[in-house]
Amino acid sequence: MKCRACRSKAIIDIPRHNAAFCGTCFDAYLIEQVRKSIEEYQMFSQEDRVLLAVSGGKDSLALWDILERLGYRTIGYHLDLGIDEYSVESTEKTVRFARERNLTLHVEEIAREAGGSVVDISKVTRRPPCSACGVSKRHLFNRAAKTYGCTVLATGHNLDDEASRLLGNILHWQDGYLEKQNPSLPEDEGLIRKVKPLNRLTEKEMATYSFMKGIDYVIRECPMSFDAKQLFYKKVMNEIEKESPGTKQAFYFGFLQRRERFYPETGDKSPPPYICQVCEEPSYSEICSFCRLRLKVTAPPGDESLSRPRTTS
Ligand code: SF4
Ligand SMILES: [Zn+2]
Ligand SMILES: [Zn+2]
Repeated sequence: MKCRACRSKAIIDIPRHNAAFCGTCFDAYLIEQVRKSIEEYQMFSQEDRVLLAVSGGKDSLALWDILERLGYRTIGYHLDLGIDEYSVESTEKTVRFARERNLTLHVEEIAREAGGSVVDISKVTRRPPCSACGVSKRHLFNRAAKTYGCTVLATGHNLDDEASRLLGNILHWQDGYLEKQNPSLPEDEGLIRKVKPLNRLTEKEMATYSFMKGIDYVIRECPMSFDAKQLFYKKVMNEIEKESPGTKQAFYFGFLQRRERFYPETGDKSPPPYICQVCEEPSYSEICSFCRLRLKVTAPPGDESLSRPRTTS
């Protein structure tokens, strides 16, 4: 297998592009894909300060490495989910990554902010763990971006994540989610701009990049992910891709090209009608979803009402 660009020995094949690359040309290809996404979807510029949500996995750590190489101003934010050994390892690897490269990283614990670990929150609120985790992350990432003076929030979602999510959303016709499935979601009523610069790159490509760069990341999956239907959709997409290379990319980018036709930006979206009584962020109810969740978790045993939060200092 020879590199498409320089004809030396290739280290990775990319069937959807009918290409293979050596290490040097693969690096150039990958950086170009990220640069293209940032420009095409106007994700951010050199003037922006980017808050990067870093989990300790390959995608977010590699994205941090890439954005630094491209000269963007980044601040890392890691949320310790309190999921036993998985979270201990995730936090350790993220902290080490930042320290070795002299990068700014802020670490918060979900237990301190929401009153319990993802597992605790899930039990008390009777939500699936991923749903409890999602509500908390949305709120805390957004808050962190504002706290640290960032103009945009970047996450390490890759092409596999986005294509499988799209498949799940279409199978259930989740219009609300489909409307928001965009690699660059503009700032909206107290919610900071959200971007996904890795949306052109697959898991395999990100794992290869991380290996080449010696990035030490958490390999094991989150133990709560048995809950995520996403894994099943990923498996299905990978099977289709094996039989017909390029389908994943055509499916996802085909949707993005048609997105506005299905979900036009009408500009008449009504802003959230409330200001959360607890955190004072815009909200669709008097108390926002995160604060309701936190109040439930921190309520004294037996208290079913939404009582005052317990101080977690
Ligand atoms: S798998 Fe679920 S619980 Fe684990 S990090 Fe992802 S969303 Fe959170
Ligand atoms: Zn080459
Ligand atoms: Zn609130």
